[in-house]
Amino acid sequence: MSDENIEKEACLTDLPGIGPTTAAKLEEAGYDDLMAIAVMNPADLSTIADITEATARKAVNAARKLLRLEFEDATEYLKKRQEVIKITTGSSNLNQLLGGGVETRGMTEAYGAFGSGKSQLAHQLAVNVQLPLEKGGANAKSAWIDTEGTFRPERIKQMSDALGLDYEKTLKNIFVARAFNSDHQVLLVEKIKDLIKNGEPIKLVIVDSITAHFRAEFTGRGQLADRQQRINKHIHALIRLAEAYNIAIYITNQVMSDPAMMFGDPTRAIGGHILGHGSTYRMYFRKGKKDSRVAKMVDSPNLPESECIFFILEKGLSDEE
Ligand code: ADP
Ligand code: MG
Repeated sequence: MSDENIEKEACLTDLPGIGPTTAAKLEEAGYDDLMAIAVMNPADLSTIADITEATARKAVNAARKLLRLEFEDATEYLKKRQEVIKITTGSSNLNQLLGGGVETRGMTEAYGAFGSGKSQLAHQLAVNVQLPLEKGGANAKSAWIDTEGTFRPERIKQMSDALGLDYEKTLKNIFVARAFNSDHQVLLVEKIKDLIKNGEPIKLVIVDSITAHFRAEFTGRGQLADRQQRINKHIHALIRLAEAYNIAIYITNQVMSDPAMMFGDPTRAIGGHILGHGSTYRMYFRKGKKDSRVAKMVDSPNLPESECIFFILEKGLSDEE
């Protein structure tokens, strides 16, 4: 049985010690499926759900059993790793920086100033994910949560034309939703889950940008903790989606270009370390010499901190000018 099937069949109340009231409490806190419970530590679960630690431990273990997250033999492990697809960015420099491309079962974040290329990469990935595997795609569709109204069908046309793809088809394979506020943005992740459950072969989810609404809505200093917590929950929901359905998540995060306007390290994304913690791959984009873009890998668990150069052309992302 695949992860998907288990998720459809079992729910929180199937776990020992978790009744409807406790389940509702957990759902309210953003822990709404078995995977979320399976990866928790029992002490946290005990606090959040207001149950004893012994009960929490039993529930976590049961969730792990149901999802078969206990030890698995190495062939199973290999199979999961082999399922990971690396989607090409169109620039082999950038692919190399990312260890091959934007990975499924993980989250890739680009942060940087306005105009640094974050949304351009989003457009390119939405096109490239549709390519066959041997061309660096996943033969699949994408879902795009647009928070700032920066999705451009014309840009998709330029990129799909350059790859010799049928523009109408390419556009049909991108589900776009404009998120009107942060609550709506969070809700849209659930809608993507519904699309997948209805059989849509989605292998890429884009959130451009992840932070804008949260930043606009939670402005006071006293609201910072609340803002972080909500972003954190949203990110965890996205990561769970990536793991349950072998999907690549690409998120963008805008930071100010003028270091004098920022407190502290200008290369730190707003969203702070919580966002850094959740991301599998985190890149910092900036403008370089002669219209180039510089991407720097930061905070990756398995890749070195390094930099590369790429260009944004009419045909899309490229190594050359
Ligand atoms: P952000 O990081 O703010 O999301 P974008 O990804 O939208 O920035 O990048 C915008 C930049 O991309 C523009 O300033 C321009 O340099 C480049 N760009 C956008 N469209 C094209 C195009 N059709 N041809 C060449 N370059 C383009
Ligand atoms: Mg943008």
